[in-house]
Amino acid sequence: MPLMTADEYKAKLDDGRVVYYKGERIKNVAKDPNLSACVNTMAVDYEMAHDPKYKDLALVEDPELGELVSRYYYKPKNADDLIKAYELIVTSTAISDGYIPLAHDIGADALNAISITAHLSGNQDYVDRIENFRKYMKREDVSACAAVTDVKGHRMLRPSDPAQLHPDYYVRVVDKNSKGIVVRGAKVHITGASYCQEILAIPCRQMVEQDADYAVAFAIQPNTKGITQVVRPFRSSLSPIEFPNNRPVRMHTDSLIVFDDVLIPWERVFLCGEWKLAATCVYNFALLHRRTGCAYRVPMSEHLLGLGKAIADYNGITKAPHVREKLTDLVIYVETLKSLSKAACYEYVIHGDMAVPNPVTTNIAKYHFAHNYHDVVKIIEDLSGGLLVTAPTYKDYQLPELHDYIDKYLSANKKVSTENRLRMFDIVRRMTSADLETICLHGEGSPMAERMTIWMEASKLMEDCKRIVEEMAGIKHQ
Ligand SMILES: Cc1cc2nc3c(=O)[nH]c(=O)nc-3n(C[C@H](O)[C@H](O)[C@H](O)COP(=O)(O)OP(=O)(O)OC[C@H]3O[C@@H](n4cnc5c(N)ncnc54)[C@H](O)[C@@H]3O)c2cc1C
Repeated sequence: MPLMTADEYKAKLDDGRVVYYKGERIKNVAKDPNLSACVNTMAVDYEMAHDPKYKDLALVEDPELGELVSRYYYKPKNADDLIKAYELIVTSTAISDGYIPLAHDIGADALNAISITAHLSGNQDYVDRIENFRKYMKREDVSACAAVTDVKGHRMLRPSDPAQLHPDYYVRVVDKNSKGIVVRGAKVHITGASYCQEILAIPCRQMVEQDADYAVAFAIQPNTKGITQVVRPFRSSLSPIEFPNNRPVRMHTDSLIVFDDVLIPWERVFLCGEWKLAATCVYNFALLHRRTGCAYRVPMSEHLLGLGKAIADYNGITKAPHVREKLTDLVIYVETLKSLSKAACYEYVIHGDMAVPNPVTTNIAKYHFAHNYHDVVKIIEDLSGGLLVTAPTYKDYQLPELHDYIDKYLSANKKVSTENRLRMFDIVRRMTSADLETICLHGEGSPMAERMTIWMEASKLMEDCKRIVEEMAGIKHQ
């Protein structure tokens, strides 16, 4: 089957799915004036696959099918495969002005996590199901989201704990029949769910035996009976674009997905009651998705460096010693992220039947990005000065009676026009908003989740290092 075009992808979204936004049911997400910007962002993945400039990066010859498929759905075998996938994410995010298109990457992270879990479980039935599903995703070039985060209820209580206000805070199996399983519950923050073709759901935490009904992984199409999505008013706290430009608007939106007794056919069930495997599945998803997160944050962090340098230049302060220090901090931030992200690919390990990025390095890269993000924003806000939030709007600047005043008094550097300086404040405002701060912290897991993984994964490293100094101290082990 030929690879899907962007238009074909958009046409498939008109399938009766139940999506609500700002108090209204959306008839067709691809045509909705707000959501269509998100659909167009996801469509960039399909455009790249048909663009001679990006085709070689976006696609790969699949030995199993003997045809070109999305690189995302190809199982990585070595460092080269991982590096190419990293470069694909970096490139697609860069051409989408810092928004990863998301048609395949997060879905592929869930697909691969399920596949690793199936291979490690030794359950051939699960292996066959997920490999058949992978074939379908490759052949049909399906867009997919990953529904991992449950609404969770009380954070300190387990899914099955009777002290939870109700038993449905984590998606669970409520019935089984000859056709499949019936699931109930809700997932939250699911990016792209309202404009993709498949929802891949996996558990978001480890489980104990009492939680067996919650150890469930499956794939389901968004228009299936019983699925309702509520998308948050995206960019609600982002400043509007004041200074017009001709670039397409890029953005995503995230869904609360309610599963109200949804039937999942058996061939789409990948985990059902094997509570010990819930941890394997979510651990591998988190690892793969943090690598994805680090890759798409490379262009984002380059944008932050660009903002810092530009606003320092425009304000005429670049040569001041403290400004150089701050810009040097931004360079260290960007280059550390890049180096760690690539190192994670080169020092890969094998999980199940595929190469995955190094767990310690990947988690350190993600933690580095999230932990230092606010300091980076602080530098940019510091270099910008108060005009960042008080500068007159574009409409005021256009008024004949105000234009010359604003032009005269808000200039700073003879090499930069006042309009360009105001434009830079506009983009800094939009790229340092609270929405972005939150996604940088919590996207791909909270900073504590990364630290816990680093602690767990680095136990051998710590023991090895301890042994070295013990030997140096003449301490002998029995
Ligand atoms: C913009 C955005 C997009 C996202 N996209 C997706 C997506 O596509 N798919 C998906 O599945 N998820 C997605 N997420 C979810 C993301 O992975 C979660 O936000 C993240 O895992 C944190 O979970 P939470 O939001 O429920 O926060 P919480 O878990 O409520 O965390 C809040 C605080 O509580 C602490 N905490 C939580 N539980 C405990 C505990 N048991 N003990 C001690 N401390 C605890 C945390 O460390 C943190 O400090 C997205 C999130 C954002 C913000």
